[in-house]
Amino acid sequence: MDPENSLGRPLLTEQALSGQIDLHCHSTASDGILSPTALVSRAKSAGVTLLALTDHDTVAGIDEAEAEARVQELTLLPGIELTALWGRRVVHIVGLNVDRRAAALVQAIGRRDQLRRERAQQIAERLEKRGFAGALAGAQMLAGEGVIGRPHFARWMVEAGHVSDSGKAFKRYLGAGKIGDVTVPWPDMVETVAAIRGAGGAAVLAHPLKYGLTRTKLRALLVDFCAAAGDAVEVVCGQQNPVQTREILGLLDQAAASDGESGRLLASLGSDFHQPDQPWRALGCVRLPAGVEPVWNLWQTGADQVQ
Ligand code: AMP
Ligand code: MN
Ligand code: MN
Ligand code: MN
Repeated sequence: MDPENSLGRPLLTEQALSGQIDLHCHSTASDGILSPTALVSRAKSAGVTLLALTDHDTVAGIDEAEAEARVQELTLLPGIELTALWGRRVVHIVGLNVDRRAAALVQAIGRRDQLRRERAQQIAERLEKRGFAGALAGAQMLAGEGVIGRPHFARWMVEAGHVSDSGKAFKRYLGAGKIGDVTVPWPDMVETVAAIRGAGGAAVLAHPLKYGLTRTKLRALLVDFCAAAGDAVEVVCGQQNPVQTREILGLLDQAAASDGESGRLLASLGSDFHQPDQPWRALGCVRLPAGVEPVWNLWQTGADQVQ
């Protein structure tokens, strides 16, 4: 991507902003089922001109995605979706346009890699106690060289004939409050935002409505995210009804009103694509509502976002 700004980070071309924009998706480097190459090629076919690959807790797919993006003449932003804790709750923080070699990010990824390996063993032990033998080997096989997560256990349970689909595996065994829902000491949200910004990236609070929080808690989360120097919020994630979009916009207004100093949070969007058979999160299916400032303005101006 060219040209570059004074920090060596890319500025976006008009071409990059001329089609669909999708800043949240997954490949086989984490829990997606398309390789980075297949993902980028599919995004191109869907009319995407600016894509961020944001695998869970890894940047391992970025090199391959970048190579295919050059072939497809599509602009690829290196990204990541970091798992973090806000209090005792798990939240996801997307990092966009990160320098994947920055020490802060390498360290953040290394910590999570270790936590995910330990958690996979614990999940497997619990499932085996319930009579599901071979869970670890099965999930590891499906994860391949990618970062292992609960979806790999869910897919293994489907393949082994224990449940009829992944949704049921989460509902019965892996989702909140079930035996496979192991408590993990993920790094805190504040330090996660700092790691992303330390790597020159923009920190985006992913899918705020998917944490099962009350309005009051959501407002508190946004205030804390602002105070942690978060840059943007996903205003649209996958197919979303207008009521939900308005709810998030309302939260942004309230966060701005309660924190006059750090300025307004920017707006991001993404499909959260994982696999082709989920049309509600198809690549490029998202559009920002009017009246918000998009997160990509950070890169168009070339402004230094690391203060
Ligand atoms: P992990 O990061 O390993 O804890 O797994 C979280 C991932 O599991 C999410 O990114 C989703 O892709 C997937 N997931 C979470 N909840 C469900 C669910 N109820 N049904 C299917 N997949 C889910
Ligand atoms: Mn996922
Ligand atoms: Mn997520
Ligand atoms: Mn995601």
